[in-house]
Amino acid sequence: MGRIGNRSPRPDRSQTILSGQACSSLFHHRSVWLGSEPAPEIFTLVAASGFRYDKFMKLETHPLSRRQFLSATSLGLVAVHAGLPGQRSVRATAAQASSTGNIALPKKWYQSAYRRAVIDMHIPDWDEQFLSQFDADQYVQMLVKSRAQSIVCYAHSHVGLFNYPTKVGQQHRGLKGRNIVQEMIERCHANHIAVVLYTSLIHDRWAFDNHPEWRMLRHDGTQYGVGSRYGVVCPNSPYREYVRAWVQEMCERFDFEGIRFDMTFWVGVCYCAHCQKRFADEVGGELPKTVNWLDERWVTLQRKREEWLADFAALATSTVRRFKPNATVEHQASTCPLSWTFGVATPLVAQNDFLQGDFYGDALQGSFVRKLLEDLTPHRPFGFETSFSLELRDHTGKKSEPLLEAKASAAIADSATFIFIDAIDPIGTVNPHAHERMGRIFDRLNPSYPHPGGERVRDIAVYYSLESKFNFKGNGKPIGQADTTDAHTASAMQAARWLIAHHLPFGVITKPSLSELAKNPVGTDSTASLPALGLPAIKVLILSNVNFMDEEEAAAIREWVRGGGALYASGGSSLVNKRGQMQKDFMLAEVFGVSIRKADWQDREHYLAPTAAGQQHFGDWSAKYPAFIKGYGLEVEAHADAQVLATTTLPWPAPEPTKFSSIHSNPPWQQTDRPEGVFHPFGQGRAIYCSSLLETVEGLSETFIKLLRLLCGTYSFEADAPASVEVTMFHQPDRKRYVL
Ligand SMILES: [Zn+2]
Repeated sequence: MGRIGNRSPRPDRSQTILSGQACSSLFHHRSVWLGSEPAPEIFTLVAASGFRYDKFMKLETHPLSRRQFLSATSLGLVAVHAGLPGQRSVRATAAQASSTGNIALPKKWYQSAYRRAVIDMHIPDWDEQFLSQFDADQYVQMLVKSRAQSIVCYAHSHVGLFNYPTKVGQQHRGLKGRNIVQEMIERCHANHIAVVLYTSLIHDRWAFDNHPEWRMLRHDGTQYGVGSRYGVVCPNSPYREYVRAWVQEMCERFDFEGIRFDMTFWVGVCYCAHCQKRFADEVGGELPKTVNWLDERWVTLQRKREEWLADFAALATSTVRRFKPNATVEHQASTCPLSWTFGVATPLVAQNDFLQGDFYGDALQGSFVRKLLEDLTPHRPFGFETSFSLELRDHTGKKSEPLLEAKASAAIADSATFIFIDAIDPIGTVNPHAHERMGRIFDRLNPSYPHPGGERVRDIAVYYSLESKFNFKGNGKPIGQADTTDAHTASAMQAARWLIAHHLPFGVITKPSLSELAKNPVGTDSTASLPALGLPAIKVLILSNVNFMDEEEAAAIREWVRGGGALYASGGSSLVNKRGQMQKDFMLAEVFGVSIRKADWQDREHYLAPTAAGQQHFGDWSAKYPAFIKGYGLEVEAHADAQVLATTTLPWPAPEPTKFSSIHSNPPWQQTDRPEGVFHPFGQGRAIYCSSLLETVEGLSETFIKLLRLLCGTYSFEADAPASVEVTMFHQPDRKRYVL
């Protein structure tokens, strides 16, 4: 069992719809192992995308040449085109999804609009030329060019001005009283393009300038945003009533399919009078000013910030629900994987119909956040969004066509919609280049759009905790020098990086999905083939340095492992609860097979040396040449029934700056018996615990994968493909097939 190189899938057992040179090269030179009996119904190779743009850009340090990269790109995309029945034109698809005039989609608009556009319009009005040449016909012509099925249409923006004659706020003066929101809506609907009105919360320059009493304040009383382009106001201030009034106005005045509330996040901890009062009323006392994740008052403030933000979002969402019940609501969700300062956690999710977020990072970031949004989103599909330009500050720059196409393809491979962001010119014209390029890309990808959907085949689940987006290392720092790093997200993403590179089927799950574990007790010794019916259960759960965990989470995971699940855990996972209370021992100590001896989250240079029992998993790392780690120095002791796989080796001391053992490094010195990694059977399941964040050490990435194989020998599918290719698979029981 396991990966079998160069072995073709059995054509008599599974129908793989493939043709053409690209596909034959995939199966002759690479192989995709599809597990054992019983065979799945149908496999369709739709997309195999996800490329390391970051590595690609550094050709001199990466073995993947430009030619190989392009060949890999076309491999995925030619495969997308191969053998898919009934390629329909974009217009035909759009026409089928709409009736004449108003949008009357058979499903909710977002369920069929996989190609989406945003045209940013954050234009002030201090120059009378601004927006003076806006032409709704040209605007919509560009969307037709780009094949967009929906548009995020600006009713309001970060500058706080309205693009229609508002009675609540102030209209953009360059529009001279025109109602361009109405103009855009009419023309979009005439062209079967769904309209999502854009609004900007908290980031509101007009409100900031006109209502200084609403501004967000730092701990020292200074204002956030002063002297910058952006003005931010506090969601706990009377700004709330202003928001409620204009949301109602938009709902009553316009016919639209959805509304987007952008920027629903804190720019920092706010110490304004409104926040002070609310904290005093709800908690008592003053707002804490020292960041300490082991201090209950500080942690309470963080939970309050998350709750207050969601409460503010609920004001906007509920106003839409009341006055426009059929419209969808979306708040910015790219903040879900961002650090604690943004105050975005689970409570905000419920204020959305679906999640979407704009991301500007590399392929790893894209892959990780798509799995996260997939798990969190209240309804699917979720949206993956990025700028057409290289970065938002570059008004005329263009991402290359292969890069944009790879990103759009990666969205398909993860069953996400793709949203590109263009920006209007200050005078109101739209640059046609972006829309022509996107039109060509969407035309090429169009045959794939009928195929996304279903449930991801994810034998491995990386656990993600939205309350854990911080670093204990920063404890004790005053708020003015707060540590905003996020050790949980960083290590979870590294775990994902190795899973992608080794083509192991994985997803990301959050607390609400833990209930799935209980439904799917699994024995790791069971055969790992794709069943003819039903989704394979999660076989391995990864707790990568989960800073905070509540008793409920710990109990669900404990019972799942007891029933046959396999767990990999690292760092301080389950040591501190969500109130910031350090426990006497790991809540999952009996599962891990270790107990805490000393919690220390500071970075310490040390080495990890395999024991005789663990050697087979550690390649050529040895007691004499152990693996170097600069990270947590958590000390644990192993329980009697745990097998120690690796121990800590201390570096040569360097007691003074001029006294050392080797000038560039601190080489390994004394071996200890402190466990670094242990294997522990628990009930019918098993666990591996690593006190260091082994998954974050590049030199131990092969070991990380070997440990996962120790936990579970066989996965539903594996691919012998280049590390730069990500393979995803979805189960679509309603269509009796798996989509690869
Ligand atoms: Zn405030």
